[in-house]
Order: sequence, then structure tokens, then C-alpha cells
Amino acid sequence: MRKTLRLGVMGGTFDPIHFGHLVAADEALVQFNLDRVVFMPTGQPVRKTHRHVSSAEDRYLMTVIATASNPDFEVSRMEIDRPGDTYTVDTMTALRAQYGAGAELFFITGADAVREILTWKDADRFIGLCTFIAATRPGYDTGLSAASAVALPPAVEYMEVPALAISSSDIRERVRTRRPVRYLLPEAVASYIDKNGLYGEPGADI
Ligand code: ATP
Ligand code: MG
Repeated sequence: MRKTLRLGVMGGTFDPIHFGHLVAADEALVQFNLDRVVFMPTGQPVRKTHRHVSSAEDRYLMTVIATASNPDFEVSRMEIDRPGDTYTVDTMTALRAQYGAGAELFFITGADAVREILTWKDADRFIGLCTFIAATRPGYDTGLSAASAVALPPAVEYMEVPALAISSSDIRERVRTRRPVRYLLPEAVASYIDKNGLYGEPGADI
């Protein structure tokens, strides 16, 4: 009998991708015995309209550059090539249709984002499609004992990752104010940001 493919999906704006994302994906790969992790840059972000988001192509390319050296990581254009607003549930439905019963899907996300997912379009359907892997930092309170626990999706697995304090918004602010970003993200991504003048415009929203 053919082995079931264990496929991790790491969705994100990746504006820019950083070591927090990469560490979380790698940790999920190992802890949950995944065959590979697909990074899925979002197309038109529906929840981040308050700020300028870099072009899908820039975000896609930074994600490719950052993951290029890892044979277990790949990048999908599925969301960025889909016209209109992107919903992760549609992506997971498409992956489910593509792989059928031959794959188990894992959606890798930050622990805080898991709660937010419940407010997303078709949350119930989303929850039925995959197992959630939620990255927490050491000592993070998952709130499972709190009243909110009843509202959490049943299939959430928590995993500790060490690099959780890194965020794209902090990196964008650092670039804008010319503070160092070295050691927060791959050097080649920092070079791409520099070469293409991302996040640099004076007065730009972060
Ligand atoms: P922003 O600061 O703009 O919100 P971000 O750093 O959170 O950006 P996203 O592209 O929004 O990056 O995140 C994609 C996914 O990665 C989300 O599920 C998020 O929870 C998770 N994530 C973000 N930063 C980290 C990190 N440092 N460690 C682990 N997971 C992370
Ligand atoms: Mg975020």
C-alpha cells in the first residue's frame, strides 16, 4: 500500500519571510514527520488592507530565495495566481482535491493565529480539512484551560519553536529606519530587499 503523504502548508504574507517562518516550518517537518512543507504566499491579503503590502511577485521571490537550499521546502504560486481575494480554506480545498485521500494536510501557523482562524470564512470547513500545527514560544500559555478553549479547533497540535520573537513588521520597520536586520532573515532576502528598495520609502506604512 502506498504511504500517505504528510504535507505541511505554511501560509503567510511573507513580507518579508524571516527565520521565524523557516524555523517553524523546519520544526514542524521534524516533529510531525512531514514529507515536505509548501510555503504558500498569500495573494490579495484580505485581512491586512491597512498597510501597503509588497507585490505578490516580490513576496513569492523572497520566499523562493529563502527556501531554495532546503530540499524539503517548496513554494506554491497557487494563492498568488488566483484572481480576487484569497481564502486559505479555498487553497486547502484545492490541495485536498489535488491529493485526494493520499495525503494528510497540516496547516502550520503561529499559535495566536489559530484563534483568529475561527473568525475566517468557512472556519468549520477549514478545520475539517487539515490538522493545525500551532507554533508557540517556550513557556507560551496555549490558553487551553481558559474558557476560550471550547472555541478552539479540535485538531490543533502545539509545537514549541525558539525564534518566535521575529516578525515581518519589525523587520519592515527596521529596514525603514535603517536598523540592522542581519540575523533575523536569510542574507539573500536582505539583499533582495535592499536591491529592490522594499520598505524604504520615507513615511511608508509598515
Ligand atoms: P506581520 O508582522 O506582518 O504580521 P509575520 O511575521 O506575522 O508578519 P506572516 O507572513 O503574517 O508573518 O506569518 C505567516 C505565518 O507565520 C503565520 O501563521 C504566523 O503566525 C507565523 N509566524 C510569524 N512569525 C513567526 C515566528 N517568529 N515564529 C513562528 N511562526 C511565525
Ligand atoms: Mg503576523
